[in-house]
Amino acid sequence: MSISQTQPVFKNSSKQRTPSPPPTIDIQSVFLQIQTNYQNGLYELALPAAFELLNHEDFTQNKQILIQVGLIVSKIYRQLGCIPHSIQFVQKAFEMIEKGDARLEIAHAYHLIGNIFSLLADYQQAFIYLSKGLEIYHYLNYKPGLADCYALIAEINLPNQDYEQVRFYIQKSLTYSNLDCLKNQQSNALNTLGFVFLQTGQYGNAARKIQQALTLAKEIQSPYEIIRANFYLALLARHQNEVPSALSFAENALRRAQKLKTNPLQRECHLLFKEIYQQQNDFQKAFFHLEQAFQISEQHKNHTTFNQLRAIEINYKIELYSQRNHQLKKEIQQRTKDQAELEYLATTDPLTSLYNRRYFFTLAEHICEQSQKSDKKLCALMMDIDHFKNINDENGHPFGDKVLVAISNMIQKNLRENDILCRFGGEEFCALLPQTEIKQAFQVAERIRANVDSQEFTIDNISFPISISIGVADLIHSPKQSLMGLIGYADQALYKAKRKGRNQVSLFNQIAE
Ligand code: GH3
Ligand code: MG
Ligand code: MG
Repeated sequence: MSISQTQPVFKNSSKQRTPSPPPTIDIQSVFLQIQTNYQNGLYELALPAAFELLNHEDFTQNKQILIQVGLIVSKIYRQLGCIPHSIQFVQKAFEMIEKGDARLEIAHAYHLIGNIFSLLADYQQAFIYLSKGLEIYHYLNYKPGLADCYALIAEINLPNQDYEQVRFYIQKSLTYSNLDCLKNQQSNALNTLGFVFLQTGQYGNAARKIQQALTLAKEIQSPYEIIRANFYLALLARHQNEVPSALSFAENALRRAQKLKTNPLQRECHLLFKEIYQQQNDFQKAFFHLEQAFQISEQHKNHTTFNQLRAIEINYKIELYSQRNHQLKKEIQQRTKDQAELEYLATTDPLTSLYNRRYFFTLAEHICEQSQKSDKKLCALMMDIDHFKNINDENGHPFGDKVLVAISNMIQKNLRENDILCRFGGEEFCALLPQTEIKQAFQVAERIRANVDSQEFTIDNISFPISISIGVADLIHSPKQSLMGLIGYADQALYKAKRKGRNQVSLFNQIAE
């Protein structure tokens, strides 16, 4: 049974896990324990604890630890050559990228996705995500992330045998792991570098780097790097025709690889044995190892197919997720726009773009209340275009519409920012002027009247003299000092202006005249 299929067994949990309430665990300390177990190669302890932690219901609150645990799990799977269960974190990682604001966490999320794609042998996607992670790690100068990302990029170049690239990236990884004294990472990079030297025939350099990797790996008890170093030393010895030495290193590597259950390295060891024994004409042993390698290869082949399917699945999920997010953003934008439009329609007169009567009253009530509580200096102007019916009759309704728009613009220009103006009815407008005495209001009205009167309204090459009558009233002299009283008085004053011959302004207190 491979470790990927082991049921999660958590230390101290002899009882069946009950779904609720979740046991309270110190997530941070469990995480540190997982990290230590991983670094010491105690995968059988690290993995179940990681699953336990990831299944914990409180976990949604700790996405950044989830991503870190995801990284550890995928690193373990890389070493074991197993199908990565860590795929389930991709979605969460992706959510974090979308919603996150802490840069380091976002970088970890990219790093994790890159890691998983590389496990699935989708190196192109892996490179894209790792590069995004690198960019942020560089910005933050986060060396462990830089060391790990560069090492991974180096590793994904290995299958292409692009050793120049591998060396370039591994040197970068080494630089950052040296700066931060990350021994596991150093040992990993030195092993890879040694392998590159080996492949390019630089045996002296290869031996030095692999020995350094081995010393470091032993120092920190990293079983995986110890196996790699032994395996590379075996390869090196074989290249130099030192058969007994090659066999001894290979045996050491195979024994440890079996113990750690890392399939890829076990397979490599068997293939190496086959080569050596074949050269020695010991065909029985060669055949035995070939058979062993073949068995692991079969599993490996199944894994590869499975992984490829998984890679497609993830790409698809990410695509769906992006689309859903994009769709959601579009919907929200549309809704905000619709709401703004509805609000505009509900408050605005479509022809003149002035406030409509209903919304005017909502605003006016508020302004009137304020005024009643304070200085009561509030005035209203009621305006009506003179003989508008004639304008319509002689030039047509559309022409009349244009006149309405031109006049409403002109009135608006003569008012202050705080005044409110509405289209009260057909060719009637009403304005409310806060903090204004009746004398000033009269002046404003007179200015509007004079402007309309002197303006030559030329629309569609047709000029037409237009005038307007205006009634003015103030709150303080209106019945009950109310809004309706004020508007009613302004309307009566307007009626008076009409009666007196139009094209003039009337004040309510002059009505008796
Ligand atoms: P007065 O000087 O007494 O106010 O005369 P008047 O012709 O302006 O008044 P009356 O109330 O008789 O006519 C108003 C006209 O305004 C009638 C109506 O067709 C026109 N009207 C109302 N709303 C609109 C509109 O939205 N567009 C156009 N073009 N005309 C409108
Ligand atoms: Mg009129
Ligand atoms: Mg009218």
